[in-house]
Amino acid sequence: MSPLSPAGFDAVVVGAGPAGSAAAFALAKAGRSVVIVERGPYPGSKNVYGGVVYGRILDQIDPEWWQSVPVQRWVVRRSTMVLTSSQSVSVDVRSQAWGGPPHNGMTIYRADFDSWLAGKAVAQGARLVCSTVATGLIRDASGRVCGVSTDRPQGELRAKVVIAADGVNSFLAKSAGLYRDSSASHFTLGVKEVLDMDPEVIESRFGLGGREGLDIEALGATGAIPGGGFLYTNHDSVSVGVVVALDGLAASRRRPEELVASFKAHPSIAPYLRNSTLREYSAHLIPEGGYDTMPDLVADGMLVAGDAAGMTLASGLWLEGVNFAVGAGLAAGRAAAAAIEAGDTTAQGLAGYRRQLEASFVLADHMRLRRAPALVLSDRVQGVYNKVLCDLAEQLFTVDNPAPKPGLLTLARRSMAKHGLKFRHLAKDGLEAARTFR
Ligand SMILES: Cc1cc2nc3c(=O)[nH]c(=O)nc-3n(C[C@H](O)[C@H](O)[C@H](O)COP(=O)(O)OP(=O)(O)OC[C@H]3O[C@@H](n4cnc5c(N)ncnc54)[C@H](O)[C@@H]3O)c2cc1C
Repeated sequence: MSPLSPAGFDAVVVGAGPAGSAAAFALAKAGRSVVIVERGPYPGSKNVYGGVVYGRILDQIDPEWWQSVPVQRWVVRRSTMVLTSSQSVSVDVRSQAWGGPPHNGMTIYRADFDSWLAGKAVAQGARLVCSTVATGLIRDASGRVCGVSTDRPQGELRAKVVIAADGVNSFLAKSAGLYRDSSASHFTLGVKEVLDMDPEVIESRFGLGGREGLDIEALGATGAIPGGGFLYTNHDSVSVGVVVALDGLAASRRRPEELVASFKAHPSIAPYLRNSTLREYSAHLIPEGGYDTMPDLVADGMLVAGDAAGMTLASGLWLEGVNFAVGAGLAAGRAAAAAIEAGDTTAQGLAGYRRQLEASFVLADHMRLRRAPALVLSDRVQGVYNKVLCDLAEQLFTVDNPAPKPGLLTLARRSMAKHGLKFRHLAKDGLEAARTFR
């Protein structure tokens, strides 16, 4: 790389994912010189996710973002399924309000979304350098981070602040010593297929109008391995996949693609996918450990944002990472700009970042739901409650004349006994759920 700026930049952002582009947008908006280094040939080219972005945080980037964002479908139906191998119970929520501005969830391809968001940062004055890998941190004599090395000739980039937005398993955050512990139990593996399907078939099969979309989340979809399944509708394709605990997957000795195949073959899912054809297959780690497994967020001269800081919220009911990454990126960019303005980019000078995150949904939701990962991935939630609920529902709606209908409590007792669930388990888990989701 010919030297991008011999004098250096105010900030270098590593990664043009949602966190990095949002950080660069905030810095450029504050009048700071900022360069984003992205290893892919364009933003989003290497990025994998399930498929739904919750867009309200984008109000802070473009108040009318829904006019230009390259959406696939606006999610108006959200279905939460509980499965056993041959049964299902669904809670199906539909809101036509979600189909109009300001919308709720949208399905969108990452290559489109990340490029669109990086474009907002560039329009604000940020510089984007693709096909460039940040290979290490540069420190000054005092140990303060003051830039990154890259894989290009003469590729050192000096800056007052480095923002590590390099995604899950952040090489930069680890190099800075910000992670105390990153064991396999803090991660899940997401595996996804995109299947081609005609838009008219999607609309009739899923009960959707023109630009409307559906989001299905499924518990009990991954057999003995803790995790879940998902199915999202795009304009002319569906995204279907599973998310599984990394340590559980390793212990099971099963291949991730087998798990997707088994979810796709479930009697409640297979009819949705008839006659579709495979377009692409991908897999990626997710930092699902939650608040208690996050690294320190700030070092002298450096901030960490998004998945690099373990900020995906995975709490059973919700799997959200992109909105958290955008929220964290905006806060990182603003805090960096304020620290540069004040002439203090030490960890203390950058401490406003954490305060901003605590005051926003990014850390507030993580702190409130810090117990969720353990509860959601627990043996009973993963392998007992789904069976109890499905059996209870099946019995409730089985008409077994000439026998009279049994009472609900009798059915619940019967179903609990069949699967070894005791009232004391119910009380313990109910209390834990109340504490977790209060
Ligand atoms: C299977 C799966 C399903 C998911 N489903 C959803 C969902 O439906 N909705 C949702 O909101 N979230 C979902 N997530 C989570 C979401 O994808 C992440 O939370 C989000 O992408 C985090 O954004 P980020 O900018 O922090 O990191 P990333 O999106 O990972 O971006 C990091 C960027 O840094 C670049 N990079 C990395 N290292 C370097 C380097 N050394 N030099 C230069 N560039 C580098 C990468 O190429 C990448 O562009 C899912 C994740 C997975 C894996």
